[in-house]
Amino acid sequence: MKEKVFVTRRIPRAGIDILEKECEVKLNPHDRVLTKQEIIEEVKEIEGLLCLLTDTIDEEIIEGNKNLKIISNYAVGYNNINVEAATKKKIMVTNTPGVLTDTTADLTWALLMSAARKIVESDHFTRKGKFRGWAPMLFLGGDIHHATLGIVGLGRIGRAIAKRAGGFSMRILYADVKRVPPQAEKELGVEFVSLEKLLRESDFVTIHVPLLPETHHLICEEKLKLMKKTSFLINTARGSLIDERALVKALKECWIAGAALDVYENEPDLTPGLSDLDNVVIVSHIGSASMATRTKMATMAATNLVAGLKGEVPPNLVNKEVNSNKE
Ligand code: NAP
Repeated sequence: MKEKVFVTRRIPRAGIDILEKECEVKLNPHDRVLTKQEIIEEVKEIEGLLCLLTDTIDEEIIEGNKNLKIISNYAVGYNNINVEAATKKKIMVTNTPGVLTDTTADLTWALLMSAARKIVESDHFTRKGKFRGWAPMLFLGGDIHHATLGIVGLGRIGRAIAKRAGGFSMRILYADVKRVPPQAEKELGVEFVSLEKLLRESDFVTIHVPLLPETHHLICEEKLKLMKKTSFLINTARGSLIDERALVKALKECWIAGAALDVYENEPDLTPGLSDLDNVVIVSHIGSASMATRTKMATMAATNLVAGLKGEVPPNLVNKEVNSNKE
């Protein structure tokens, strides 16, 4: 008998096809995030769960089914899953690293450029019929070329951001828990500095660390105050890396020039005041949202899940200790 799998939201067909060849698949019939109770009900009967970053897979859900073997997350970040609880129950957790790196880096650059050059404000102004012709002081932004870019977290996406900065002749600083080898620093043209130095010296600060207890509110009021008044903050990683209330204050009181966000602390809700500000660009968690990349993510998440159910080590296993006897 085929093992049972539940998919918490419609994903590209390529992933479902892989699952259906090997498993009995049930899809969330609604085009919305399921409630915790709905997930608990669905998880009771299955061996494999394919979930999204919008599903909080906590201890209660994990404890609710002794037959659950694998939780395959359709995302690279897995802060939505209690990995410790899953590991305790010997349940594998997988993610989708790498395939969304370039697409997310592209979006980060789109946001950086939009914030620096006031693209969204200028678009709204023009649409409203307020444009009366070229003017010497109209929408003066910040220059990107030859500016200093600060990358917080030089992992896959951070490096892809650095590569793109080469074309803009930027000075590139990075802060990370560990320094990359000198050869990689040379190739990327990056300089390792403390987070404080990065914040003080960068014209653009972009965040690419995972959301962990130690990175929660990494950018708080005190850190925002270190940034230049002319600088911009970009976040395409996870909302809670920034204290969003402090950010609203910083943008209102012009401690920094602007921000651009793809992710939010209480997604999908925005901190009061954020959407009233002109000096912030806000988009709807679309970092990996290209058809090609979402299809690759679906394929990867499904492949991970099927491998786990077959008793193999999934290619992108997060909690390697669960399967250490098979490697
Ligand atoms: P990654 O390759 O793991 O890179 C993260 C980097 O941050 C690593 O170098 C990591 O070092 C470093 N780091 C970890 N903790 C840190 C700390 N406390 N301070 C400074 N650096 C720290 O991950 P990635 O693939 O680049 O993705 C980064 C994040 O982007 C993901 O976790 C995800 O949340 C987010 N993301 C968002 C979207 C979107 O749709 N907006 C799309 C893709 C990814 P170690 O390797 O030593 O831990």
